[in-house]
Amino acid sequence: MLLRARIVLPVSQPPIEDGAVLISANRIVAVRPWGEFSADERRDVTDLGEVILLPGLVNAHSHLDYTGMAGKISPQRTFTDWIQAIVSLKGSWTNQDFADSWRAGADMLLRNGTTTTGDVETIPELLPAVWQSTPLRVISFRELISLKGGQHADELVRRTVGECAALPDSSGRVGLSPHAPYTTTGELLQLAAHEARKRKWRLVTHVAESEDEFDMFVYKHGPLYEWLRHQRDMSDCGLGSPIHHLERNDFLGDNVLAVHVNYLWRDDAAVLERYKVSVVHCPRSHEYFKHLLFPRAELAAAGINICLGTDSLASVLKTLGKLPEMNLFEEMRTFSRKYSDVLPVSIIKMVTVNGALALGKQGQAGELTENTLADLIALPYSGPLGKAYEAVIQHQGSVAASMIDGNWAIEPPSA
Ligand SMILES: [Zn+2]
Repeated sequence: MLLRARIVLPVSQPPIEDGAVLISANRIVAVRPWGEFSADERRDVTDLGEVILLPGLVNAHSHLDYTGMAGKISPQRTFTDWIQAIVSLKGSWTNQDFADSWRAGADMLLRNGTTTTGDVETIPELLPAVWQSTPLRVISFRELISLKGGQHADELVRRTVGECAALPDSSGRVGLSPHAPYTTTGELLQLAAHEARKRKWRLVTHVAESEDEFDMFVYKHGPLYEWLRHQRDMSDCGLGSPIHHLERNDFLGDNVLAVHVNYLWRDDAAVLERYKVSVVHCPRSHEYFKHLLFPRAELAAAGINICLGTDSLASVLKTLGKLPEMNLFEEMRTFSRKYSDVLPVSIIKMVTVNGALALGKQGQAGELTENTLADLIALPYSGPLGKAYEAVIQHQGSVAASMIDGNWAIEPPSA
């Protein structure tokens, strides 16, 4: 199948005017100007017309099962208050609520151009049924929490790893997510990291997200410290930053996605670079919590792979009274408003190639080039080639078409 478009944005190569993408089964075979395809190759063509054709977006961090929490928790005085509010809201939900929420989130991501997402799963019972309900590529990270009174870290990790490995077609689509340094023990971090490395799985954790977390680890005080001190052994606090805590527990490596990283201490950026950790920034979640400016420049200067994620809708503000949707275009726009010095092409890389690298899908997703998976989206566009990257960031509404694994997830009007 040959897909022709007025503009093809491969991301890893310069944009092509009147370009086309040749697809065989679920792979891309060639990306070239239309004029360079032979008559034979042009036989099975779908002309998408006035669109930008680009790789499907890669969302490095989502919580599909919290989609229904959109607009349910208003911003709280402290991050600790928010954590308590979401714990309480979760307690009132049934597994059916979480399953409905997960599916609604997957639909939202699809129509908003995402084709791959790295998702944290709090309800293990939803898998694998929810996977089968969507064409979206979902890499599921099982959330792990170990506080006093809970299951022992050793047992918990062993059971979770066993359940992940037993899922059908689990290869390349499961991983572990120790929730955060403050909701886990050092032992859990060590065991999870060890198991993930052994199986070549990715690891996700929320780290250095809030001032409360920073104060807990660095200074042994603050609201999070006070709230957790009877639920957790706090002898690992007062020894350095949350990032240092992960390093001390042998957690860091090139398979790690460090989500948030809003608060850096001393050599934290250098530590993340040394272990080739990817950092996931969630612009709208950042805005919701009114954190200090995300240290993009410092992380970028250290050479760290930075990508974007939607996080969950439990921490995205309503706009003009409307409930938010999970949408990487909105995340790109929020980011570009704050970092006007970052080029549009660099912002698009954060939701394509950078996200693919973070999720271990480098050369598979996030770019249109020979041999990558046929995951593409089309956006209506009739402007000039030179403004195409900017137009992608400004795109509003559902995508015109979405292909995942060589099949239309959203069929183009002309197909
Ligand atoms: Zn998150």
